[in-house]
Amino acid sequence: MTASAHTTARLLIVGPQGSGKGTQGLRIAEAFGIPEVSTGDIFRANIKAGTELGKQVTAILDAGDLVSDELTGALVSDRLSQPDAEDGFLLDGYPRNAAQVQHLNEILAAQGTSLDVVIQLDVPREESIARLNLRSAEQGRSDDTPEMIAHRLDIYEAQTAPILEAFGARGIVERIDGVGGLDEITERIFAALAARGIVRTAAV
Ligand code: ADP
Repeated sequence: MTASAHTTARLLIVGPQGSGKGTQGLRIAEAFGIPEVSTGDIFRANIKAGTELGKQVTAILDAGDLVSDELTGALVSDRLSQPDAEDGFLLDGYPRNAAQVQHLNEILAAQGTSLDVVIQLDVPREESIARLNLRSAEQGRSDDTPEMIAHRLDIYEAQTAPILEAFGARGIVERIDGVGGLDEITERIFAALAARGIVRTAAV
């Protein structure tokens, strides 16, 4: 790769619950020096801090349902307008349905930008369930009960997986096998990004 390679990267990571997208997303964001914008993390932080937003979404998260598109969209729009997201970001958990894809397109078009790459982490449903059961035992997340896990996977399959078709038509989807060791999967993602000219700069 040459020095003219991307120094900016607008990325989205998509995968079912338990695909490891949070972990991988953080690694990628760190490697490129871009903020990781995780709607789930933002909601959980607000719930923990007892903010007004947190109060509004607690019951929704506990039920495994989606927060309204309006509320989530406003949150993301605000976050992406902050200076640290000017040169790139890694989105995790947004957009999650067709309406949110449309809203994100509008947010980015207003900035004169668009997504560079959508990283699709592929993990079979059975593997996702096994990993989430483990996470539930370890972390005790209130939405990680078996019923809630199944419910969120159903929503993923019905609403989120289809958005990949729209991104696929734009030619920006990189499909990554999400089964394997954590480092192995990180390397797969870096290789796929490098093939598109998105490489870590030598700086720092
Ligand atoms: P998971 O991927 O394991 O469901 P997340 O941390 O991505 O976990 O999201 C947790 C919860 O936060 C979701 O179940 C949903 O209630 C809410 N949430 C996160 N992102 C969105 C979104 N884009 N739209 C609506 N609700 C969202």
